Amino acid sequence: MTLSPTLELAMDLIRRKSVTPDDAGCQELMMSRLAPLGFAGENLRFGETDNLWARKGSDGPLLAFAGHTDVVPTGPEKNWAYAPFDPVIKDGYLYGRGAADMKGSLAAFITACERFVGKYPQHRGSIALLITSDEEGPARDGTVKVVDTLEKRNEKIDWCLIGEPSSTNQVGDIIKNGRRGSLHGYLTVHGVQGHVAYPHMAENPVHLAAPALDALANEFWDSGNDFFPPTTFQITKIEAGTGSNVIPGELLVHFNFRYCTENTAESLEERVVAILDRHKLNYDLQWHLSGRPFLTDRGALVTAAQSAIRQVTGRETELSTSGGTSDGRFIAPTGAQVVELGPLNATIHKADECVKAEDLDTLSEIYEQVLVELLG
Ligand SMILES: [Zn+2]
Repeated sequence: MTLSPTLELAMDLIRRKSVTPDDAGCQELMMSRLAPLGFAGENLRFGETDNLWARKGSDGPLLAFAGHTDVVPTGPEKNWAYAPFDPVIKDGYLYGRGAADMKGSLAAFITACERFVGKYPQHRGSIALLITSDEEGPARDGTVKVVDTLEKRNEKIDWCLIGEPSSTNQVGDIIKNGRRGSLHGYLTVHGVQGHVAYPHMAENPVHLAAPALDALANEFWDSGNDFFPPTTFQITKIEAGTGSNVIPGELLVHFNFRYCTENTAESLEERVVAILDRHKLNYDLQWHLSGRPFLTDRGALVTAAQSAIRQVTGRETELSTSGGTSDGRFIAPTGAQVVELGPLNATIHKADECVKAEDLDTLSEIYEQVLVELLG
């Protein structure tokens, strides 16, 4: 069976065992295809992370395709029917780690650029690929550092299309035009350790904190808005005590907000502190903001993506801001319009990760059409 260029390249990428932060030669392979098209490639290595910034053209506007070569670990390989790094196509599906998240999209970026540059050698503006090998990990030395580098030399991305698996039932049915913010809280409630038989000589932090945690869990944060669902609060970890006859001296609580643009990290922090203070707790509280919310309103990029999907598939596309954070959180603050448009996300991070083989060809055509709409 002859494979399409997109499938062949996707399989070549899957064969490279690029578990975060190892790129395993994926970016070199991509660059070997981009260089003949006139892309100038730059390796930006930070720490253990390989990043690729490849650009064709020097004029604006600049359309960047963004994504990652790293994949999450396989989990126990005995749970896989197919070897995770030895891709196969079976009953119309391509199996392998990264098939959906997101080596399929990377291959589709490349083949879309190849066809577009072939048909429009004199296209306007510039095309770039912003590729990292640390999206699935701590994401400290990846896109965020590349964006810093670009900002320092005043290189501005106008439109950024991220190939993350955004689709739900059919390719192109959903694109993400924003993401909620994510804010972590690490709370330590102090009590006084003691013997359970002498509670008057101790202070149980579990008992002290329980009403405050109840209040936090039942707080109404906001009702969301046209683009975002309501802000949610979830406790992710509670730890206290050694068991036996000891009243614990401390209670640790980790929690996370997924929040919309009706709140800010600062407003949520203030409200949590007010609830804890109302319950007169003795506590320490630390915060980690892993991403502010962002939103790309209707504009040239959203219009081009919707129009490309309609032309290639006949489908009307829904805009959504649901799901986890993505590297868009680093790119959007530069003022770029950002959308995520990629394959179905049903099997991402799972055993037997797969994608419908023909969907990758469809995706490549959609990316090509986006190029035509914006730079053709
Ligand atoms: Zn991904």
